[in-house]
Amino acid sequence: RSATEKDAPTGHLELRDVVKVFSGRGKDVYAVHGVSLDVAPGEFITFLGPSGCGKTTTLRMIAGFENATEGQVILDGQNMVSLPPNRRPMSMVFQSYALFPHLSVRDNVGYGLKLRRVPAEEMREQVDVALTSMNLTSLADRAPNELSGGQQQRVALARAMVVQPKVLLFDEPLSNLDAKLRVRMRLEIRRLQQRMGITSIYVTHDQSEAMTMSDRIVVMNAGRIEQVATPEEIYRRPASTFVADFIGRANFLQATAQNVSAGKCGVQVLGRGIEAACHADVRDGDAVTVVVRPESVHLEPYDAAGKAADAGELVGDMGRVLSAVFYGDHVEYEVETQVGTIVCLESDPDVSAVHAEGDAVRVSFAPSRAWVLPDD
Ligand code: ATP
Repeated sequence: RSATEKDAPTGHLELRDVVKVFSGRGKDVYAVHGVSLDVAPGEFITFLGPSGCGKTTTLRMIAGFENATEGQVILDGQNMVSLPPNRRPMSMVFQSYALFPHLSVRDNVGYGLKLRRVPAEEMREQVDVALTSMNLTSLADRAPNELSGGQQQRVALARAMVVQPKVLLFDEPLSNLDAKLRVRMRLEIRRLQQRMGITSIYVTHDQSEAMTMSDRIVVMNAGRIEQVATPEEIYRRPASTFVADFIGRANFLQATAQNVSAGKCGVQVLGRGIEAACHADVRDGDAVTVVVRPESVHLEPYDAAGKAADAGELVGDMGRVLSAVFYGDHVEYEVETQVGTIVCLESDPDVSAVHAEGDAVRVSFAPSRAWVLPDD
């Protein structure tokens, strides 16, 4: 390869209006409805969404295991759609690990290099590097059935990376592992991916996996992209009530938008007018939904005079505690208010300050924590 070729950034992946229709007997299933996405070299992108939203089908079209009905999958300027999976410079890590049971760890990892007819000496070196990077050196001669689930998934990862793909594809790779190991493997995968700088597409329906690993999250719903943004933006500025509801938890308050200007609008919530950040599609007079996360809601005792002890700058109204559940690190309340039931998470609760079922409380939140969306 020439020097310029070598220096060119690699792993720039573009999806252009990708559609997948499964034509079965009787009627067509639109699994993916025109998905477009631009993934920067080295970026870690997660597809997140409910079951059946088209995440896996999209991933499989990128890999070439599924033919796109329409659209293009472009890697570093080259359209991949007519190439079979083994001709695409990509590796996939599966939920089921998909290791060869009769091959040792070493031979599993070296398999892709062998297929590519890499000379034995060079192959040994590259496999050693991959084994070391995944902490697998001491297990190199074992068979897959002599390994734990986490170790098997590390072998699958080493096997995927050893061929130096431009894109790594992950199909729910951690869902067969127990909760603690899953958390550790997330960090391991992320660290490795960052060190190697390989563009990665990761499919999961586990939102904390998506939040903790991704540069950007693609939230999908019914074959379409609802939002593409950083984890923080997805959480703080969800583009739709679907996203707000799917990622984390949310209270939805109905209101009417007024005085929309410069990304803010006026809304009447919990008996008071506030100014809150709003979505670009909100117009004056629109019926809107005000999104407030449960951890942004505060409760205070409502005193006899009908005032809260410390109202401060918060918006608030009276409510009655319907339920209070103690989780150790937080208390979760459901509070009945004039505008419906509001969920509140109070973290690090002082036991003496826990409100009881039936208590009258003042429900409040800072206007800066509210986010206004147009009604769907
Ligand atoms: P999950 O989280 O459950 O894996 P997903 O988001 O990955 O879901 P897909 O597996 O991509 O969803 O499926 C998207 C839609 O396409 C679903 O309605 C599914 O039933 C349909 N589908 C997937 N594969 C096929 C197939 N081979 N033939 C017909 N329909 C299919």
